[in-house]
Amino acid sequence: MRDDGRRFYAPMAWVRGGWQHDVLLEVDAAGLWSRVEAGASLAQRAGATSLGGPVLPGIVDAHSHAFQRAIAGLTERSPGGDDDFWSWRDRMYRAANRITPEQLEAIAAFLYAELLAAGYTQVCEFHYLHNDADGRPYADPLELSRALARAARRVGIGLTLLPTLYMRSGFAAKGLRDDQRRFASTPQSVLAIAEAVRAGASDAGRITAGVAIHSLRAADVAAIRETAQGARGLPVHIHIAEQRREVEDCQAEHGLKPMEFLLAQAPVDARWNMVHATQASASELAALRQTGASIVICPTTEANLGDGIFDFATWAGESGVWSVGSDSHVTRSWREELRLLEYSQRLHARKRNVAAQAGVAESSAAALFQGALEGGSAAAGLPLGGIAVGQRADFAVVDADAPELAGLPADHVLDALVFSTPESKFARVFVAGDEVLGGGEIAELARGFRAAMKALWA
Ligand code: ZN
Repeated sequence: MRDDGRRFYAPMAWVRGGWQHDVLLEVDAAGLWSRVEAGASLAQRAGATSLGGPVLPGIVDAHSHAFQRAIAGLTERSPGGDDDFWSWRDRMYRAANRITPEQLEAIAAFLYAELLAAGYTQVCEFHYLHNDADGRPYADPLELSRALARAARRVGIGLTLLPTLYMRSGFAAKGLRDDQRRFASTPQSVLAIAEAVRAGASDAGRITAGVAIHSLRAADVAAIRETAQGARGLPVHIHIAEQRREVEDCQAEHGLKPMEFLLAQAPVDARWNMVHATQASASELAALRQTGASIVICPTTEANLGDGIFDFATWAGESGVWSVGSDSHVTRSWREELRLLEYSQRLHARKRNVAAQAGVAESSAAALFQGALEGGSAAAGLPLGGIAVGQRADFAVVDADAPELAGLPADHVLDALVFSTPESKFARVFVAGDEVLGGGEIAELARGFRAAMKALWA
């Protein structure tokens, strides 16, 4: 034990999928839970730091493109008639193609602080900006990766950096478009970045790495296999079946839908995280379930981009592993992601409490929260499965006086946190047993963010 601050008492804590009362919590020197004991007596909890309100484990943000925080609020107009994912992407590329390492760091630092404040304690950064604005490799191939790692370290959030393979502009293309020049990468370059990040990893595994393949359209099968096999033991992420046009292009080129094609051609196993899968059919999801792979659902971004609605009832009904991601960062709150996930299912099925029924749980919020929690470890490749011995001690303390909780029985706290808005802030947030977001830090990060935005869009 490092000091008294690493021994806590929580009046309520979310343990093994439900609320436990009078919980004594201890954190070891590595930042992992070493003791979790419900029903602790007054004598047992003597000297422990009281956390005041209900305690929830931290949630993994399983899909982030930090630079896209810079276009939140800037793409909600349609100047030239029809607007869809592909026209949004053109505008997103304008940010991708001009951002400097310093601007990326300032934007990511502010974003990561926002994510922490919302109760995300680890972020999986799907990182495909590798080269300078002219498409030339930086002298240090990790220039932009290091900017993201510095941002994460500064605010104290955990980071799983996913250097991303991006080699061509479409299924039948030979290379990249000019406006994709910063993405150019190879299996070797991606694996080298992941290895360098892991070699420099410190702080209780807070900064670590996996790999990503941008999409089936961005790399051929040989390169996908080489990347996945080279990243031994690490999480592998891929955007898949997000848009209808991508499905049609894959069928035209290969005669199979994206998920069918990937399962037939790549060594998909429990390391794999399929981002979006909004267009995947029930039979594709059933086949995926056999591999042990996870789905990363990004409800607010999928809604913002008009991607479609993921077949959550089928996936959760088969006990499929899933996590949640804020992706383009139009929202920086897992509570809003889970709420929209459930509401989109209700609107589609014209029923209520879809998550509760699919997960055979009493509470939709409990089924959603527990699902997002359990999928986070697979996405991040770290022990982030909640408040249990051996898992990393990441947690958020709920403000016991939050208006959305007023007058509710204690066992409805999570229901209200997800389904009653506006959302109140968490009182305190901890990563690996350490409190984060102290003092006036957010105000200073906001100043850096504003300066970067001004320079980007002047
Ligand atoms: Zn994405």
